[in-house]
Amino acid sequence: MTENPFFAASPLVYELPPYAEIREEHYLPAYERGTAEQLAEIAAITDDRSEPTFENTLVALERSGELLDRVDRVFRNQSSSDTTELLEEVEAKVSPLLAAHHDAIHLDRRLFARIEALHGDRAALGLDPESLRLLERWYTAFVRSGARLGSAEQDRLRELNAELAALGTTFQQNVNAATRAAALVVDTAEELAGLSEGAIAGAAENARVLGHEGRYVLSLKSTSTQPELAQLADRSVRERLLAASLARAGAENGPLAIRMAGLRAERAALLGFPNHAAHVVADETAGTVEAVSGLLARLVEPAVANARREAAELAAVAAADGVEEIAAHDWAYYSEKVRQASYQVDTAALRPYFELERVLVDGVFFAAGLAYGITFTERPELTAHHPDARVFEVFEEDGTALGLFIGDFHARASKRGGAWMDELVGQSGLTGRRPVVLNTLNVPRPAPGEPALLSWDEVRTLFHEFGHALHGLFSDVRYPLFAGTAVPRDFVEFPSQVNEMWMVRPEVLANYARHHATGEPLPAELVERMTAAERFGEGFRTVEYLAATLLDWAWHTLPQGHRVEDAQEFEARVLAEAGLAVAAIPPRYRTPYFQHIFSSGYSAGYYAYIWSEVLDADTVRWFETNGRSVRDSGELFRRELLARGFGRDPLESFRAVVGRAPETAPLLERRGLG
Ligand SMILES: [Zn+2]
Repeated sequence: MTENPFFAASPLVYELPPYAEIREEHYLPAYERGTAEQLAEIAAITDDRSEPTFENTLVALERSGELLDRVDRVFRNQSSSDTTELLEEVEAKVSPLLAAHHDAIHLDRRLFARIEALHGDRAALGLDPESLRLLERWYTAFVRSGARLGSAEQDRLRELNAELAALGTTFQQNVNAATRAAALVVDTAEELAGLSEGAIAGAAENARVLGHEGRYVLSLKSTSTQPELAQLADRSVRERLLAASLARAGAENGPLAIRMAGLRAERAALLGFPNHAAHVVADETAGTVEAVSGLLARLVEPAVANARREAAELAAVAAADGVEEIAAHDWAYYSEKVRQASYQVDTAALRPYFELERVLVDGVFFAAGLAYGITFTERPELTAHHPDARVFEVFEEDGTALGLFIGDFHARASKRGGAWMDELVGQSGLTGRRPVVLNTLNVPRPAPGEPALLSWDEVRTLFHEFGHALHGLFSDVRYPLFAGTAVPRDFVEFPSQVNEMWMVRPEVLANYARHHATGEPLPAELVERMTAAERFGEGFRTVEYLAATLLDWAWHTLPQGHRVEDAQEFEARVLAEAGLAVAAIPPRYRTPYFQHIFSSGYSAGYYAYIWSEVLDADTVRWFETNGRSVRDSGELFRRELLARGFGRDPLESFRAVVGRAPETAPLLERRGLG
């Protein structure tokens, strides 16, 4: 076997991972050597006989674990976006290994003693603000991880972390397998009536790839509701599609969710918190369970009232089809009809104006140019993690190189659902590294020779994920711990949501939304009607989101020792008690496939989207009303907020941009909840 390419820093530009050299069998040995190396580095810190200093302890800690960091970033992206059986096996071994490694560092008494001593002395150390913050953050991380517990309690903590890590991987792998298995297979094109010709051809191609030649396959998205429900004319096909989605992974993951919630409650109790959510939010911008519960409670009633108004409009249209009661599988379909009847908007008719390439280059990149002056050059000679992925180099206005952006946009069977951003290389002044960031989407692959045409929502997702990418690209911090998107979860969705505003800014829209065949611009009045029609869907969207959020909250505010018998019953009871049991609106995710909270680190964190949206709506208003040019506003937002990462208190960064604390009125207005 050739030398493992992870064992040395990448020789490529920006230290882009050497994908041409990386093989699946390199990951596990790199993880094993990487954890051992970091433990040796930590031992060197604690064996140092000289007095602990900021340099010999904190800076040394920040510099440690390079090999582990390298392999972990590459592996996480690979196992999410192009997994294989072997990678799944590696993943199952790696997550307990990493949990144990985290504990080995954070429960190291000699290391903690040095950090604690420095922390006690922090005012006298003469540190600059970012360095002082580094010391405070490491100290907090150690305490939150159990550094102060007795030995028996620390042993139990290690067991809990190990089991949770293993269960989280199993949960995720169950979701992946169940989502693939639950794809809807139909025999005839007639059953897909209502879908565009392109979508039907895509379903045929999908069937061919999956070994159902001559039939049609609709693969499932990660959410409960599936996009095809808006178009499928055959009610029974809609019903089958939604039922397949809702039933996914129930038998396997229901019991796992119960077990994980129980273990998390026990861990929180060990660490001195009444429940898992309290432990989580203590380190978020929200601070307390009450603050989160308060915001959620304030939103439920107006959101449900909004959804009921929407339901009445749907029922009026559905009656003409002989549908007496709107079921969950009817909601999107009749919403589409209402949009057509009341707003003269046919969302399918928008697609030809949203060709992926134009949206990316003339929309997303163009908007970033307007606000921040940056430019993009494709670098096809650079190899990414998959042949579909494209690499762009990003430059400042004055031509200075900034970093790399990789886009991996199309769905494939080996990719998990949803859309996300990753950082393959994190920015740091300490190491001199510049960022390599990545956006992953799941845009269905068009039939061969056809252009990829996006839905309105997919266009928004592209702008959203690129907002995360900018957060990573503009990072300008000294310490790796603070780079880019390493902010609290209830803050991280804020910059990405702000970036969505460019999608409908007139000067941006005029530049990208053109008919792929004729070049004709998207009529402005169609956009206005679409925006009005979108407001019509806010009731549904807010309720499905709040339902998922309250499920997360309910699972994670359980006290230690409270035993849930049945996940499905628990779900039903929680939603009913919250006043959110709207029969025709399923939660955005049901427990068995709610990967955010059981495998992706968002436990007690799904509230973050609406929490961040308060900041987002307020900031969008600031962009629109502050009287500065777009470029000046962009520069201020970049310098005071995006560039800062977690190098200072995020709410302080917000105030530095907007000039005051956040207000909720713009959010309520946007969601029609005012
Ligand atoms: Zn996001």
